Amino acid sequence: MEQHSHLHFLQDTSEILAALTGSRDLDGFLTRLVKLVARHLDADVCSIYLLEAESQQLVLRATTGLNAEAIGKVRMQVGEGLVGTALKELRPICESCASHHPAFRYFPGTDEERYEAFLAVPILRGIEKVGVLVVQREQSRAFVPEDVAALRVVTAQLAGTVEQARALMLAENGAQELPAAPREPLPPFLRGEPGAPGCAAGQALRYDRRFSLAQDVMPDLPVDGSADGRQLIEKAIERTEAQLRRMQEELGQRLPEAAALIFEAHLMMLHDRGFVDGMFTRVAAGASAAGAVAEVARSYMQRFQRSTHDYLREKAQDVEDLALRLITNLAAAESVDTLPLAGRIVIARDVLPSDMLKLALENVAGVVLTSGGVTSHVAILARSLGVPMIIAHNPRLAEINDDTDLMVDADSGNLYINPSNEVTERYRQREKVRAAAESAAEVKPETLTADGRQIHLLANINLLSELDLALRMQCEGVGLYRSEFPFLIRTTLPDSAEQQAIYLRLLERMAGRPVTIRTLDAGGDKMLSFFDEAGEENPELGLRSVRFTLRHPDIMEQQLKAILEAGAQSSAHLGIMFPMVSSLDEFRRARAMCMQIADRLEAVNDIPWPPPVGMMIELPAVLETLEAFAAEADFFSIGTNDFVQYMLAVDRTNAQVASYYCPHHPAVLRALARAIGIINKAGKPVTVCGEMAHDMRYVPFFIGAGLSRLSVDPHWLPELQSGIARWSTAQCRQYTAALLKQDTIEATAALLRSEN
Ligand code: PEP
Ligand code: MG
Repeated sequence: MEQHSHLHFLQDTSEILAALTGSRDLDGFLTRLVKLVARHLDADVCSIYLLEAESQQLVLRATTGLNAEAIGKVRMQVGEGLVGTALKELRPICESCASHHPAFRYFPGTDEERYEAFLAVPILRGIEKVGVLVVQREQSRAFVPEDVAALRVVTAQLAGTVEQARALMLAENGAQELPAAPREPLPPFLRGEPGAPGCAAGQALRYDRRFSLAQDVMPDLPVDGSADGRQLIEKAIERTEAQLRRMQEELGQRLPEAAALIFEAHLMMLHDRGFVDGMFTRVAAGASAAGAVAEVARSYMQRFQRSTHDYLREKAQDVEDLALRLITNLAAAESVDTLPLAGRIVIARDVLPSDMLKLALENVAGVVLTSGGVTSHVAILARSLGVPMIIAHNPRLAEINDDTDLMVDADSGNLYINPSNEVTERYRQREKVRAAAESAAEVKPETLTADGRQIHLLANINLLSELDLALRMQCEGVGLYRSEFPFLIRTTLPDSAEQQAIYLRLLERMAGRPVTIRTLDAGGDKMLSFFDEAGEENPELGLRSVRFTLRHPDIMEQQLKAILEAGAQSSAHLGIMFPMVSSLDEFRRARAMCMQIADRLEAVNDIPWPPPVGMMIELPAVLETLEAFAAEADFFSIGTNDFVQYMLAVDRTNAQVASYYCPHHPAVLRALARAIGIINKAGKPVTVCGEMAHDMRYVPFFIGAGLSRLSVDPHWLPELQSGIARWSTAQCRQYTAALLKQDTIEATAALLRSEN
């Protein structure tokens, strides 16, 4: 297909996707979709098969060109026929003469025998199988590689919506589904990866499928049918307001940087005349109280959902949240506080940082995510909030029903299903021992190798609530304050005064110690909800980090001003650093902005002023000109999470390529050792602050390469200190030299294993 019409194709697809938003006409959507694809690919037939969750069969759901009577009747197993094979093998199948293919299977009644040219592309959402899109033509016009490419692009674009459509159809047609095929019983445990440490037991709750106004899945609560609707609503508003204020207060204590703003939108809405009167009008016209709340909320949601701005579309979620809370509160007073999330193990495909915050506030016991990676920012936030979390890309998670007893061991990444009393008891004991050990942890203020070389241990801080633990764990200072978290967990830009108050609290708690504040590192997997202008296809390679702040100098200046004004007033030793710097030019621009502001201020206490300005090493590009950087930057911090991602071209949040995310890749190890060597030679301080910094498989390697500063999540500090004490500098050097000699991942992996 030509480039030009290819673009039209994508444009048209976006339009029908947009048209679907808020509509319940799913069959109409799928029919329009197959017609559109057929037209653009000049195909005689286009059909869509969706994978039915219950039976695990592919079912023909829409077609143009085949006999319409076959819709809903043609079914096949994954792996059966060409369509089933495309899904099983997760690859497109393109044949000029389909019936000659060994896997071909003819389905009588479809009238497909005339169409020998065949192309099937699996529809996947992350690792989840959604269905297959198929196009067919008469034999003389076989499909070419450009057609395959175009169809792949379109299926990738469609996957999310088609899957949502499929879920809705299942919800609507549930009763008509075929009886479920007998399935293997679930194993006693599924293995995932630890995302945030801790253990928790509780009953399962699927977060994606909780109550939904859009899908009309409402909480089933006893409401006094004889009571006056208006009064019921008034009472529910009162109770809701009280709950929100309570949560706001609690949030203020646990997360000062959110400054209780999260619920402000809910509270405003609760007092919005249009919203409230809309409900009263409806009950006056005879609607039930719950029906009135739902109806008004839906009309607001639809308005928000039509917006082209992400942050306004997110507001639809706020309205839904609020409406469901109101509906819950229409019921008897006793049930008011039984929010469905408390004590549950939440299973979700993916969650936004603000969702994670809500989950933590509603006291979920643990979280199981079925997508994303352990270095994603949702995982980092879960750790900061103390919510045990595992990430498991296992399709069998879909089979766990709500209310199933689960036990999350987020230290090892195991999820136990219906755990025996023995397992639960074992973990309870372990938690007790851990809590006791943590409170009595014998951490010393200095960390030394076996031969007495000092290694400085600093803390990575995302939320101010972590400072207590960091201090208890004897951190020597803050090596990385991720300043984006206050930005991420709210829906508006924090103003300069709000930011300054946060930085001041941070610096005051760390009085007398070094504190490195990193400027806003937004973009990538840390999208700000109020800045969706980019809408980038490839956000990890897009307008992220310092690129974003340099493009928005007002935001950068406001932040630098807030940091510097806080720094000038405090006695902590402030350092400022820029993330994801790619060139000296960029660093100079950022530093110049910082210096202009710093020069106008004077420090009250005896601290270096203007403060040192450094940068993160996260892009391999920096390495080639590192000597020049080292002559200008005051200090460096190596962000291995991103460094590995960019050196190996592996999206750190993409489960499909998780096995390629390999910190021990020989190229990564050599690059890191080289960077440390160059910076040491220039006499500038260098810290490692990515996840590799707490991993005892790598720590001796870094020490052997000449590193003496590590910055890690505070709970790692005791373990790290005792781990370092077991290695002498000479042993570290040997280990580093041995690793640097290897040329393959296999060889470095073998060494990592054998040395630890
Ligand atoms: C890193 O990339 O290693 C890092 C510390 O930054 P972040 O994880 O916040 O991207
Ligand atoms: Mg980074």
